[in-house]
Amino acid sequence: MEASLPTFLQAEAQLISEAAEALPHQFSSCTYTLGHIRQAVYLCLTCNLPRGICSSCSVACHTDHEQIELFPKRNFCCDCPTNALSHPCTLYLTQESENTSNEYGQNFNGIFCRCGRPYDAKSERETMIQCLACEDWYHESCLNLRERPPLRPPSPDPAEAAEAPGDDGVSEASSSGLPPPLITEEQYESMICRSCILENPTLRRWAGTKGAMMVCRPPAADGWKIVDGDTEEGKELSIAIDKQNASGDPTSLTEDVASGSKRRPESPLMGESSSKRVRTAAEGSKCGSSPCLAPPKNSLAQTILDKMLLDPTNNELGSGDVFFTEGFRERWCRCEECLPPLQAQPYLLEEEDTYEPPVDPDSESSLEELGMRALQGLPQDRAVNGILAYNNMREEILQFLRPFAEEGKVVGETDVRQFFEGRMEALQERQRSRECDA
Ligand SMILES: [Zn+2]
Ligand SMILES: [Zn+2]
Ligand SMILES: [Zn+2]
Ligand SMILES: [Zn+2]
Ligand SMILES: [Zn+2]
Ligand SMILES: [Zn+2]
Repeated sequence: MEASLPTFLQAEAQLISEAAEALPHQFSSCTYTLGHIRQAVYLCLTCNLPRGICSSCSVACHTDHEQIELFPKRNFCCDCPTNALSHPCTLYLTQESENTSNEYGQNFNGIFCRCGRPYDAKSERETMIQCLACEDWYHESCLNLRERPPLRPPSPDPAEAAEAPGDDGVSEASSSGLPPPLITEEQYESMICRSCILENPTLRRWAGTKGAMMVCRPPAADGWKIVDGDTEEGKELSIAIDKQNASGDPTSLTEDVASGSKRRPESPLMGESSSKRVRTAAEGSKCGSSPCLAPPKNSLAQTILDKMLLDPTNNELGSGDVFFTEGFRERWCRCEECLPPLQAQPYLLEEEDTYEPPVDPDSESSLEELGMRALQGLPQDRAVNGILAYNNMREEILQFLRPFAEEGKVVGETDVRQFFEGRMEALQERQRSRECDA
């Protein structure tokens, strides 16, 4: 580097604030006044506190800070204007007291997934998938969608690495170069992690049935399979499990579950004998006045969830996460038994709104919209090369603005528009491929 580090950092900070100014209105108001909403939340690693900031504050207030985008978090109020963060908010000038009703899960400590790993954009190669319910992020390998790939090796030559700061690691899509995962993002609409499945009796009941895929590895099967109750393979697997359960084989699953049930006799799940695991239509019709239209339970999926309750680390048969296919919200049975647990989590019945900054009414093809869509126009609740995207974008904006700063030129609207049009083409390309399954 020719420029000294302080000069470089100063120039970088200036570039980012120029980027912010060049996009009128885009980052001009903090969402604090909107209260608790579902919105893209950013974790500031430089401020180093388990708090979250809104997209405007991420650009306008914490410009020169290192950040990770946590993507949408529901019921979240921006912490930037509160005294929980010492760094002052530049958009909302009254200092407010700490937010008490925000929930700060492990993501706010930079920790993700049930494996509890921190996220490192430079070495991580896997796509991560967000749980619709808890909104934590999961590695594909932790969901049994693929083997855990080796991390990107650190650059062998430190001098070389210094010359190209993070360029390679950060700009590549995280799963690029890897074989496709067992379930691709086109095949499902939302993933719900097994902790969230276990907490909701209706979700639990649906697991592994049609449109609610589970990844399983039944005993004696070679590798992981998708089970959704409808495929021939799924049916065969379930039958095999039932047979095994009925046979009294000492190594069978029933045995595992039964021995566990001694420790947890109160569990209602254990009362069901193996032969009754598959509900008959007659049984199904008994819930309340309206007939229950829930599909018969998938015995393999239920066995896996039983095992997970007893030992969440036992991943032998499957981890119990469920991938719901397109239109799952319309398919629920709404009988007296099935509906209340769904109503307790309204996003299971109706797709919720995620805040997007308002469109600038003055500009025809709103620059703000282009900018925000480029920055945030990523699919929610599904596989995205998520957390990387923000850093990529920031890097690209910097690279785009650098020559202007070096030559002392003013960045014009046309320049910015050109930049985002290029980005939008790439995004639309991705969007198109995503919409193929819609
Ligand atoms: Zn804010
Ligand atoms: Zn900060
Ligand atoms: Zn702020
Ligand atoms: Zn993980
Ligand atoms: Zn979850
Ligand atoms: Zn029902």
